[in-house]
Amino acid sequence: MNTKSSNNGLLIVGSVAYDSIKTPFGKIDKTLGGSASYFSLAASYFTTAALVAVVGEDFADADKDVLAKRNVNLEGLKKIPGKTFAWGGEYSFDMNTRTTLFTELNVFENFKPQLSETQSQAQYVFLGNTHPALQLEVLNQISSPKLVGLDTMNYWIEKALPDLKNVLGKVDLLVINDSEARELSGEHNLVKAVKQILLLLKQSPKTALIIKRGEYGLLLFAENEIFNLPGYPLEDVIDPTGAGDSFAGGFMGYLAKIDATNMESLKQACVAGSALASFCVEKLGTERLQNLTENNIQKRMNDFKTLTHFEI
Ligand code: AMP
Repeated sequence: MNTKSSNNGLLIVGSVAYDSIKTPFGKIDKTLGGSASYFSLAASYFTTAALVAVVGEDFADADKDVLAKRNVNLEGLKKIPGKTFAWGGEYSFDMNTRTTLFTELNVFENFKPQLSETQSQAQYVFLGNTHPALQLEVLNQISSPKLVGLDTMNYWIEKALPDLKNVLGKVDLLVINDSEARELSGEHNLVKAVKQILLLLKQSPKTALIIKRGEYGLLLFAENEIFNLPGYPLEDVIDPTGAGDSFAGGFMGYLAKIDATNMESLKQACVAGSALASFCVEKLGTERLQNLTENNIQKRMNDFKTLTHFEI
């Protein structure tokens, strides 16, 4: 990871939000959040991400500047009459359980992205967590992607399973957490769950599934192999919000930069994504993702190598 790539082939479609977050270690109101914000900030350390999202008239220029300063391509950020999507969450003491306090969809409710010609030519595409029918609508506008990833959540598994299965059959990569994998497959055992979920995805040499396990790390399944990466052992976890989106941004940004999708590249991208996610949780909101250096990231990726290296 020497220099940032000028590859402009990464597209993220998702939410840009005002988050109100309460954790045992801090509290912040109406701060820049949303899946696309975390994703594009994390990806920005590897490549330029083009963000497609909608905000309301209350969206402050200062928040747009946060993204612009990281060189995020904001041509696809539309400001329309109404209020920006707002979300509130509170974490329990162990930080593993989160209660959603409110979700105000506002302008996000009627979000129907129309991609520009350049956006529709993106090679690396990530469909952030929204209604699966909307994810499909976006995907149908992409001409010939090299890799399409998708995030979803229990809400869509419960409320829109047929739509979700439909879009899953058209994407290469699914990134979900362990409880969602169990719910989607109906299997408690993760290895069995994985076998079932892999069959739901588009079948190709690039088919991949990543199961996020919070502070315990992740499992990657691709090319008939399993890769298991621990979580980074952090002393200070302040706010887990956006860790999953930061992982996805680091992961996809890294792949777009090296322009490869084989198993070795996916493993490296998992380390890149995990490094970005580990930074994300060190401060409230997106703050920590705003001012990292390439050295910070390189060092943490090297730490992962040391952490997992052994000889027999
Ligand atoms: P994560 O911690 O990875 O689940 O991501 C949290 C981010 O997701 C927050 O910044 C929220 O603004 C955003 N978010 C929460 N609920 C939704 C939703 N229903 N649709 C889109 N984004 C959401």
